[in-house]
Amino acid sequence: MYAADTYHLIKAGLSGGKKVAETVRDHPRAFVTLTAPSFGPVHNRMTDSAGKHRPCGCGIRHAEDDPALGTPLAPATYDYTGAVLWNAHAGALWARFTTYMRRALAEHLGMTQKALNAALRVSFAKVAEYQKRGLVHFHAVIRFDGPDGHTTPPPCWATFDALQVAVGLAVERARLTVKSDAIGERVIAWGGRFKVDPISALGHGELTDARVAEYTDAKVAGYVAKYATKNAEGAGTVDRTLMCRSCKGRGYVPGPDLFHDHCTDCDGTGQAESIKALPIQQHVRQMIRTAWDLGHLPEFADLKLWKWAHMLGFRGHFSSKSRAYSTTLGALRDVRRAWRLAQAEAARARAGLPVDGEDTTLVTASSWTYLSSGYRPGEELLAAQVRHDIAHTRRLRQEGLVPA
Ligand SMILES: [Zn+2]
Ligand SMILES: [Zn+2]
Repeated sequence: MYAADTYHLIKAGLSGGKKVAETVRDHPRAFVTLTAPSFGPVHNRMTDSAGKHRPCGCGIRHAEDDPALGTPLAPATYDYTGAVLWNAHAGALWARFTTYMRRALAEHLGMTQKALNAALRVSFAKVAEYQKRGLVHFHAVIRFDGPDGHTTPPPCWATFDALQVAVGLAVERARLTVKSDAIGERVIAWGGRFKVDPISALGHGELTDARVAEYTDAKVAGYVAKYATKNAEGAGTVDRTLMCRSCKGRGYVPGPDLFHDHCTDCDGTGQAESIKALPIQQHVRQMIRTAWDLGHLPEFADLKLWKWAHMLGFRGHFSSKSRAYSTTLGALRDVRRAWRLAQAEAARARAGLPVDGEDTTLVTASSWTYLSSGYRPGEELLAAQVRHDIAHTRRLRQEGLVPA
């Protein structure tokens, strides 16, 4: 349902519908992919310009499904700290990118920021996806609108080419500096590999070259919806936080005397599950372990690295959009809820049942799967004790030792 809603949200921002003007398909729109820089060479599967499969740096021609792909050639020297900190700042770097893009656009067009903002609105919708190397990257739809959003056409000088130039400049310029006594100063920036492709409406507008035909409204919406639900699967990590809920990762809880007491739930490790024992690849484990270790540094407290270690440091939303882009997931849910309610009331009316008002508890999509039957181990002991007690009481009663 989340994927379907995301699809409609992105699609509405590209083709109109769901209260978005249909003229948005004539606005300049780009499908942009931004990636992380390198933190050390990784096993790869590259092809040369002729499309021939080149051997990796390790000398092997890796198969497509080789689990080694994306993992470091030299784990001992791979910059795990840099990689985790990059993931942890990816959301902030994206925010900075959007600001710099507006600035770069004004600069490229020879306008002031104020004049640009008065005539043009830039809308964004993005999703995060994990690469095999455990770093997130972003896919985004960027659209130019007129001053009042999607209902107004953008000015004629706001072209796809200007958008492309502005993205390039903003990718180069957006950076964050992280300062820490323990690890020194780090600059968080985008990798040199990024893509900007125009999006064309299907069967609409002039297809001037082969590249234009590559991305259509429906195709881009489909990609984005797919990425939005893939979450961290791509990185081969686990789907739950590793932070002990009782002590929030600290390993201790305040005792009655206000001194710190050892947390018995995690035996003082702060971890709900032992990182060492997780059934994951060594590279992913090292990313998690690095995130956990950095979580001890007070300067990184805001990054909540214990809570998000299983996400390899990334704590952003998988999908997000600027307010003006299109409808919202909440609005789509409200429409669905209203529709279901109307359906349920119609069904009650047909069955001759009284139609309830707003207070009706409506059971929405529920599905049940079979897990097992019988007692769990602890419950089994209790049940045995209860059976024994009942049998014992019955015997005493039969023997006349207790009143019936
Ligand atoms: Zn290799
Ligand atoms: Zn604990």
